[in-house]
Amino acid sequence: MMMKIDFANLPKAYQEHKTAIDQAMTSVVSSSRFIMGKEVVKLENALQEFTKSKFAITCSSGTDALLLAMMALDIKPGDEIITTPFTFIATAETIALLGAVPVFVDINQNTYNIDVNLVEEKITSKTKAIMPVSLYGQVADMDELNALANTYDLAVIEDAAQSFGATYKNKKSCNLSTIGCTSFFPAKPLGCFGDGGALFTNDEILANKISSIRIHGQTQRYIHKYIGIGGRLDTLQAAVLLEKLKHYDRDVERRQNVARMYNEFLEGKTKVPFIEEHNTSVWAQYSIQVENRDEVQRKLKELGIPTAVHYPKPLHLQECFSYLGYKENDFLVSERVSKQILSLPMNPYLKIEEIKYITAVLKDLL
Ligand SMILES: *Cc1c(COP(=O)(O)O)cnc(C)c1O
Repeated sequence: MMMKIDFANLPKAYQEHKTAIDQAMTSVVSSSRFIMGKEVVKLENALQEFTKSKFAITCSSGTDALLLAMMALDIKPGDEIITTPFTFIATAETIALLGAVPVFVDINQNTYNIDVNLVEEKITSKTKAIMPVSLYGQVADMDELNALANTYDLAVIEDAAQSFGATYKNKKSCNLSTIGCTSFFPAKPLGCFGDGGALFTNDEILANKISSIRIHGQTQRYIHKYIGIGGRLDTLQAAVLLEKLKHYDRDVERRQNVARMYNEFLEGKTKVPFIEEHNTSVWAQYSIQVENRDEVQRKLKELGIPTAVHYPKPLHLQECFSYLGYKENDFLVSERVSKQILSLPMNPYLKIEEIKYITAVLKDLL
């Protein structure tokens, strides 16, 4: 019997809370306060409460969150930022957009996050920040990174686009470094109905600067202290997120249950994702490695099972970064993983029968 599986099941996420979300959106539309309406501040307060971060500043996307973070830290052309090549383009693209230099460090082969043992050797007099990515919903080794940053007087910017709600030693992702940046892109664990993002910090001066740069660097209307951007979150998106945040803990639990079931059915057949003992993941992706990936993907698709690849080409081999002078074999783990990694359907609504079906089909192909 063939099943038709939904990868992220966004329609269901809406249907489940349709009445409340519709009401919230209608209320914004009726008020016509589309920009910086009261829902934006309400959401920022709720995000602070959720992460226990002193300040949360919403913005137009995860990409803009990264950009705003570096602008607030005065990242200038020629500055170096250490990050990983095994991530979404936005991580390094925003560094380059400011004229700064992404300095890549390979990943740990178990967590797929930045290998902290390789960071120190890349620190130079030009290094200004370390930007770990909490990939697939699991946070990197933040204590070690923060200690290094402390020693060398660097900032740490967590690219937490995939890890909102994850925990590290019982503290929430986004609240583990100088600035945490997340995304509310629809397919992220907490998604809105378009683009959205947020920054988190415990530093009041930075928080004020970020808020200002987000609105064209203004401190009062038409008074501009900094060069900024138009980087606000729409009130409509804030209203949607306020509703979805109410149920987010349960969504995360369901994602964790789905991951547990995948682990159970795949254990012994393939290497299941590794989560550090001090971490909880929000499972932005459930990814495994397969050697014959193209064939596996094609056959799964034929049997109604969509998959995705995060990410097929590490950033140091992307044409846009050819000027950095990296070449093949510079980052062996990233390169090997990018050839084999495969993300299976992941969303809070996957049923045990569906996971049994997916894993049964998959086992025959491994
Ligand atoms: C999604 C993502 C981003 C960018 O977020 P957007 O909201 O799509 O701009 C940045 N970094 C990582 C790791 C991501 O997964």
